[in-house]
Amino acid sequence: MTSASADPGTPYLSRLNPPQRAAVEKLDGPLLVLAGAGTGKTRVLTTRLGHILGTRRAFPSQILAVTFTNKAAREMKERVTAMIGPLAEGIWLGTFHSLAARILRRHAELLGLKPNFTILDTDDQIRLIKQLLEAERIDDKKWPARVVLHTIERWKDRGLTPDRVPADAGGEVAAGRAVAIYAQYQERLRVLNACDFGDLLLHNVTLFTTRPDVLDEYHRRFRYILVDEYQDTNVAQYLWLRLLAQGHRNLCCVGDDDQSVYGWRGAEVGNILRFEKDFPDATIVRLEQNYRSTGHILACASALIAHNRSRLGKTLWTAAEPGERVHLRGLWDGEEEARWIGEEIETLQRDGQRLGEIALLVRAGFQTREFEERFIALGLPYRVVGGPRFYERAEIRDALAYARILAQPADDLAFERIANVPRRGIGDKAIQTLHRASRAAQLPLTAAAEQLVETDEIKGPARSGLKRLLEDFRRWRDLLATKHHAEVMETVLDESGYTAMWQADRSADAPGRLENLKELITALEAFETLAAFLEHVSLVMENAEASPGDMVSLMTLHSAKGLEFDVVFLPGWEEGLFPHPRALDEKGEEALEEERRLAHVGLTRARRRAYVSFAANRRIHNMWQSSIPSRFVSELPEEHVDRRSEPGLWGGRGAFNEYDQTYEWRAPSAATLRRGPRLIEAKAEVVAPRPSPSAPYARGERVFHEKFGYGTVVAVEAGKLDVEFGTGRKKVMDGFVKRA
Ligand code: ATP
Ligand code: MG
Repeated sequence: MTSASADPGTPYLSRLNPPQRAAVEKLDGPLLVLAGAGTGKTRVLTTRLGHILGTRRAFPSQILAVTFTNKAAREMKERVTAMIGPLAEGIWLGTFHSLAARILRRHAELLGLKPNFTILDTDDQIRLIKQLLEAERIDDKKWPARVVLHTIERWKDRGLTPDRVPADAGGEVAAGRAVAIYAQYQERLRVLNACDFGDLLLHNVTLFTTRPDVLDEYHRRFRYILVDEYQDTNVAQYLWLRLLAQGHRNLCCVGDDDQSVYGWRGAEVGNILRFEKDFPDATIVRLEQNYRSTGHILACASALIAHNRSRLGKTLWTAAEPGERVHLRGLWDGEEEARWIGEEIETLQRDGQRLGEIALLVRAGFQTREFEERFIALGLPYRVVGGPRFYERAEIRDALAYARILAQPADDLAFERIANVPRRGIGDKAIQTLHRASRAAQLPLTAAAEQLVETDEIKGPARSGLKRLLEDFRRWRDLLATKHHAEVMETVLDESGYTAMWQADRSADAPGRLENLKELITALEAFETLAAFLEHVSLVMENAEASPGDMVSLMTLHSAKGLEFDVVFLPGWEEGLFPHPRALDEKGEEALEEERRLAHVGLTRARRRAYVSFAANRRIHNMWQSSIPSRFVSELPEEHVDRRSEPGLWGGRGAFNEYDQTYEWRAPSAATLRRGPRLIEAKAEVVAPRPSPSAPYARGERVFHEKFGYGTVVAVEAGKLDVEFGTGRKKVMDGFVKRA
């Protein structure tokens, strides 16, 4: 036994291995724990916090601890409280943003702000930049506000105030006037008593560099500084840390270069190398024992990440048993993948697996929809971590509001929701007028509006905006008679300016929202009418309500950083989806390595079981795509995976040949990978029917459909069936029915 177990004051030390313990006990001077996933970095940080307090080396208020999310901060506080009691309350514990905001509020005046300054959201930021571009007569078609804002935000990430942006930076942006716009933007923010997220850190850095007396106060205050997920800090955050740490120099950072996944948001994995330069006397601790995952899982994760060239390199080992191999599964299409995962979860649940220890991690937010619908159909409780469920997302609700008014003009709630989204001059006052008119005439809002716009009750932009909207609605409704409703919805989102609104938004989540909107169109495709789809959504959402307690977690790989689960499902490992094509287009090899780190983060979340899956066909953004397995699939070593395939479908790693309807056993060639997946034009029609074992259906056959019940096939075309159900004739996907 270690000596610590003999010390009744520090029983927690006995729960650490020797290098972990060294990292906890080395309290003086700079310390970097550079170690792979699951080696106990967060445990070290938490124990160190408890140890500092437990040994009374500092008061809680003298400790600054930085976590990557607010949730992680809460968890750390709970753990420390469990170790040492309520002392933990006073620690300065939070994310970079929350801590920097706290400091900034105390000294706002020194930066020309008042302590009650507002923190702007992206909407406001874009609007401000737009005004400035207009004033400068810069064409915002050529230089959209979001591009200019993006440039400014990256400068802020790099700690550059307008006067410090290098002369050659920004070059073309905003017709070469980007730095000037940046300076004006900062000035406007000051006048508005506001700042944006980037400013929180930037102002702190300015404060500390221009007011040594203030910095000195914090030097005296913070005896110990601790940072988790250090690999994802950007330059501004690094400068902030370095300034604060100059006092007592007790800075402890823990991180893993192989888990740096926020390069696209300005994170600098090079900060790890800088640490050793800026603190030459730093102690570097490496941890190599992984406590999280069983052998096969760890071996797969290690082999995968070994394909990255730019990494510091490290070996991990585990004393755990080899456990199950990583389950690798190829399926016919996305729907079958969702069905298979649903069944697999039900089996695990029957065997006593808690749902709360199961996670499904996707590359992009829109991917959750298919699984959510499946889970709801099965009655499997789930939660979407780090975001709302698919149909509760703001952009989806907006789009659904448009759809609802098309289907049901009297839907006042829907109308109110989107009357001025995107902005079209219909302000609060106009809405009030509209309400009055509607009450007086006892008509729904839209009908009242039709009357109102012919009167003088309403004027100016509100009147013209409303008039146009009503005309649009009439036109879109007419379109429904001749076009498929999915197509009409696409037109609605385009012509209303709704899609454009998100395209113009530069916030990090805007591209995800656009993907969600496209996924919504995909969802619409499967329904016969718009009304049927809307009904489905309301039923789905109603069923989703009551599910407290034990739940499966759905989230993106990015939000899974630092977490762990017994069972992890990693669906959608296909070229064109993961690695994510947008990332690759923009930054090539560097981005590919970041995608691979993301895959590595995914695999290393699993304790006992990991499932990787890919589908041969996927409907992405309303296009059927025949896909090839992600290159990451072929990087998983044969001896650590358990390949299974649908009979007659996948022999494992391979590619579907759409000309002879067969799958070939081979790794995708380099050329195929470069070319990327092949898009099959148009929609379901061109996709071949599911091959055996389910032979094509014939006319007259009896089938069963989960939603519509029993019916008889009356017509067959590729992939689709016309079926006479008790409730009437429906067009259904053949994959949705079973032989009765
Ligand atoms: P990540 O890189 O994914 O953030 P990490 O390095 O922060 O991982 P932790 O989350 O701290 O790793 O630890 C991983 C798991 O291993 C946790 O369940 C933790 O409780 C456990 N663990 C860590 N160290 C030990 C130890 N010495 N003995 C037993 N279990 C440990
Ligand atoms: Mg961790």
